[in-house]
Formats: sequence, structure tokens, C-alpha cells
Amino acid sequence: MLARQVAAAEGVGVTAVLIGDLAAPLVDNLAAYGVNQAIVVSHTGFDDYAPEAWAEAVVQVAQARAPKAIMATGTDRGNELMAHVAARLNLAMAANVTQVKVGESYEIMRVRWGGSLFEEARLHGEIKLLTVAPLVQEVSEAPSGGVTVETFTPELDEKAFRVRVTAREAPETGKISLAEARLVVGGGRGVGSAEGFAKLDELANLLGGAVGGSRVVTNLGWRPHADQVGQTGTRIAPDLYIACGISGAIQHWVGCKGSKKILAINTDPEAPMMTKADYAVVGDLHEVLPALIAELKQ
Ligand SMILES: Cc1cc2nc3c(=O)[nH]c(=O)nc-3n(C[C@H](O)[C@H](O)[C@H](O)COP(=O)(O)OP(=O)(O)OC[C@H]3O[C@@H](n4cnc5c(N)ncnc54)[C@H](O)[C@@H]3O)c2cc1C
Repeated sequence: MLARQVAAAEGVGVTAVLIGDLAAPLVDNLAAYGVNQAIVVSHTGFDDYAPEAWAEAVVQVAQARAPKAIMATGTDRGNELMAHVAARLNLAMAANVTQVKVGESYEIMRVRWGGSLFEEARLHGEIKLLTVAPLVQEVSEAPSGGVTVETFTPELDEKAFRVRVTAREAPETGKISLAEARLVVGGGRGVGSAEGFAKLDELANLLGGAVGGSRVVTNLGWRPHADQVGQTGTRIAPDLYIACGISGAIQHWVGCKGSKKILAINTDPEAPMMTKADYAVVGDLHEVLPALIAELKQ
């Protein structure tokens, strides 16, 4: 809807750029949503995601078309792709935009800090580059009356594929997913090591929950990235989040603030997680968790 609104204000049509053969079948759905033209970007290397190569393809389309604006979804991929496009075109890019008022520059509203605040800003540049905040825009139909389709083959060298998806690993079956768990036991730097998570795993198993961690924990390789809670990880909304040895930095907080109740265990009573939690235990998690587990087992 935002693309249609911006295109109308600029007095141009909406062109959809579809990257790779997997996206090509979407052409059939586009006319219902106000798209006038589709460019299917095709390349032998586009069988899976490759941010630099995709960005270079978008840049080549932009150079051929001189669009007023380029928009993408504000997902991890959309933001990454557009950041590469912006760097290549030496233009500004605004991520997670919710509103646009078109003028010489665009007056925009965008979501910042993992959804904790809105920012009003101005976006300048010959081509306005932006991503749209997920789940904010209504998806509404507006038939365009037909879509013309053309294929574009970008010229890309091997270097553009340095970063690409080479394999996919399915999550362990039977494991409760973090996003859906009714109870999450989270661990931070205070856990001290990968081995230290054994107690968190034990507690989560006893209570039928999942284990998550802070970014420190995933950066240090104590847990896989899929276990990260936060702005750049999973957003959780359990009935109870037990946060062990986690300070409660804003980037972690935005990922766990949807929890109905939070129990924090921390040696520092002044840690933000302790002051924001519903329940707080001041103590060493290596003592508190075994005591809690022993009590539950009884
Ligand atoms: C762009 C960006 C995105 C980010 N995204 C995320 C994200 O998605 N998720 C995320 O978590 N972080 C994210 N971060 C990092 C974030 O800013 C913090 O650095 C991180 O959350 C801190 O992790 P922590 O709480 O484990 O570590 P620390 O901040 O070091 O806190 C450790 C806590 O453990 C306590 N402690 C120590 N020993 C014990 C013990 N024995 N018993 C009990 N408590 C103990 C300490 O008192 C302290 O409060 C992001 C940062 C940036 C810049």
C-alpha cells in the first residue's frame, strides 16, 4: 500500500522487481495489488539468497530505469539488501518506515530501537531508498488492470557471490520453538560458559520450556544464533521468562518485553533486567538454579 501511495504522489506507476526463479511465479498475483510492471531478474546464481549479488542486480535495474524510489520489506533480508544498494549508489537509506509524505525530500516516520520509539526524519537523495516496517501496512487490493512482464539479466562476477546461502539446516525436531514457548529460560554472560547452560537446559526441560540467550552468548558461541532473544534475534512472548545473568540491555529487552511475567536472577540488583522484572532474585545463578531445580524435582 505504501508503494502505491508513494508512486501516486510521484506520478509514476509501481514496478515490482522479482529476484530469482523462485520469486518469478509471484507475477500472477501482482495485478491485484496495483503493480503495473514486473521485472523478473534472472541469473544462474539466483537459486538462493546472496545479498551482494542481489543488491548489484537491483542497482543495475535502477541504473537502467532511474526510479523515484526503491522500497523493500523491513525484514533482515530487505534491510540488508537495501543497505548494500545504498552503499553502492552512495545514497541514504531509511529502514523500517511506516509513513511517507512525498516532496522534494520525503518526510518519513520510522520505527527505531527495535520498536521502542518512532522517529520523524527527512530522506534526501536522487532515488529515495527505504524499507517498510513489517506488519504495519495494511495489505489491500487495488487492481491495476494488468502487469507487463520483462526479464532482466544482470552482469555479475564471481565476487558478488562471496556471501550466499550454501546450505540450510532444519531445526531439531521435537524442540519447543523459542517464539512459541510458554516458558523461556534465558542465559547471558553471567552463565559463564557453554557448559554452564546445562542447568538452564535442565530447568527448561523440567518446566516444558525452551532455552534462549543474549547476543553475548551467541557471539561467544555458547549457544547457536537461533537461540538469541532480542532485536536481532527472536522476539518471545511466554507466560514466564526466567532471565539468568542477563543485564537487560535495550536490544535484549525489546525481544523479551512481550513476556507476561519476568523473573530475573542476577548478582547485580541494579541491572536493568532486575529493576524491570516482575520478580527478582539477587544472587549467583550457579547457586540459585540448582536450588530451584532441586526444589522442583521434590
Ligand atoms: C545493533 C545491536 C543489536 C543487538 N541485538 C541484540 C539482541 O538481539 N539480543 C541481545 O541480547 N543483545 C543484543 N545486542 C547486545 C546488547 O547491547 C548487550 O550487549 C547484550 O544484550 C548483553 O548481554 P548480557 O546481558 O548477556 O551481558 P552483560 O551486559 O555483560 O550482562 C551480564 C549480566 O550477568 C550478571 N552476572 C554475572 N555473573 C553472574 C552470576 N554468577 N549470577 C547471576 N548474574 C550474573 C551481571 O551482573 C550482568 O548483569 C545488540 C547490540 C547492538 C549494538
